[in-house]
Amino acid sequence: MPAEITTLLTFFGGTGDLAKRKLYPSTYNLFKKGFLQEHFAVIGTARQELTTEEFHEMVRESIADFVEDQANAEEFISHFYYIQQDITDSAAYADMLTLNNELDAKYGLKGNRIFYMSVAPRFFGTVAKYLKSEGLITENGEYNRLMIEKPFGTSFGTAEDLQNELSEAFDDAQIFRIDHYLGKEMVQNIAAVRFGNPLFDAAWNKDYIENVQVTLSEVLGVEERAGYYDTAGALRDMIQNHTMQIIGWLAMEKPASFKDTDIRAAKNAAFNSLKIYNREEVAENFVRGQYGESADGTQKKYLDEMDVPADSQNNTFVAGKLQFEMPRWEGVPFYIRSGKRLAAKSTRVDVVFKKGLNIFGGDVELANPVLTILIDPKGGIEFKINAKDVTSEFLTRVVNLNWTVSDEDKKLTPEPYERMIHDAMDGNGSNFADWNGVAIAWKFVDAIQEAWDATREQFPNYVSGSMGPVASDELLAKDGNEWVFKG
Ligand code: NAD
Repeated sequence: MPAEITTLLTFFGGTGDLAKRKLYPSTYNLFKKGFLQEHFAVIGTARQELTTEEFHEMVRESIADFVEDQANAEEFISHFYYIQQDITDSAAYADMLTLNNELDAKYGLKGNRIFYMSVAPRFFGTVAKYLKSEGLITENGEYNRLMIEKPFGTSFGTAEDLQNELSEAFDDAQIFRIDHYLGKEMVQNIAAVRFGNPLFDAAWNKDYIENVQVTLSEVLGVEERAGYYDTAGALRDMIQNHTMQIIGWLAMEKPASFKDTDIRAAKNAAFNSLKIYNREEVAENFVRGQYGESADGTQKKYLDEMDVPADSQNNTFVAGKLQFEMPRWEGVPFYIRSGKRLAAKSTRVDVVFKKGLNIFGGDVELANPVLTILIDPKGGIEFKINAKDVTSEFLTRVVNLNWTVSDEDKKLTPEPYERMIHDAMDGNGSNFADWNGVAIAWKFVDAIQEAWDATREQFPNYVSGSMGPVASDELLAKDGNEWVFKG
């Protein structure tokens, strides 16, 4: 049994889709594993009127697929409490305060509190303000922490406003900004592979690495999300957050230790050196796309999707080159791309190493060794290296060493939300986005968006089912490189 964590966990948006699909099952897993035992309670708050029984039934249904022992599940559910409130009304926090104090006494919670905001982003600042003004943040607790869902702003300006609002109530060490990609097993594996093997650790720099590629490709189109997506685009929906957070693990300096504060400092050393582009540089280093019909005409173009304005200039594809102005990465491009309606669904990192000189004779060039970390949908690690070909002459060929996450491993792997709730209760901020990184990612992305807003692009410019516009391949070809993953 692991050491028990003592906590009062409050989920704002406690009847929402995220709470039911992810947060309650994740909390239940932490109970089954013994991180939560007796000294915990969970409060759900939302607008709906629900009795405790009705709320318990909602939780029961949401964890049903994970229950092996119903008595154990009922024991878990008995720790759940519900409060109906309008979170924009300060008076509504009085009931919460009373319940918090009751539960503190009943379960011996030591004033330890986690507030999880699973509500629309426009509420984040308001809730934080009232948590402080209405006395929900304890003086005696070992900790009071805020977990906050995405998106964290829609530009640097709005993110800074939100940060300022949150800072009135919580200091930065208490704020856990969720980017669920950071909770993914294979994203965390980047650090294990890089720092766990002196071979890679020593070679993780401009002397050995030719370029780094990060791809987050989707097969699906915009579906029913155009209302949101048409204002965000791939740039703000996928690049500013998930892609940049993956880049953080790849580009960071070696941390002094694996403590969260050291990890953040090492990531920030890289983020602070990211070159923010002016308009000309955006045109040179970034490509935007919008999907057209598929070659066989079965998939419609973005402009014909439900709720998409007929003249939309929205980007459903982004490819770009990042440059870190630091000694480790001098001259090493980091290529990123993300888009909808691409040839394959994949989240992956390809680290392209420099190739050696062929000392074996013949006119065959050695290949670039490539280390690939497969994140989604199938986890795995591949390493393509040069080895001897089976011929009488001494020729080489590329062989692929690969490992795939087994079904057994998959079963043992905690869901990102389980891991993040656990880490927040444990006070470990390693797998959360910190303000400096978020701010720089916004400044970087804002500069690109501003440049794009100033000009019109001829859309659509890629066929659904391809790997994006031709300009995406040309972007790498200009540097003498090519995408490793071709769909
Ligand atoms: P949802 O619309 O299903 O639920 C919203 C919840 O907020 C409901 O419980 C509702 O009662 C409550 N609420 C709304 N207004 C309120 C008010 N004035 N006072 C009190 N409660 C109020 O939303 P969701 O899909 O669960 O998403 C919640 C958050 O999580 C959002 O920030 C979203 O961006 C983020 N998120 C959701 C998902 C997902 O898979 N659903 C994934 C990633 C991030």
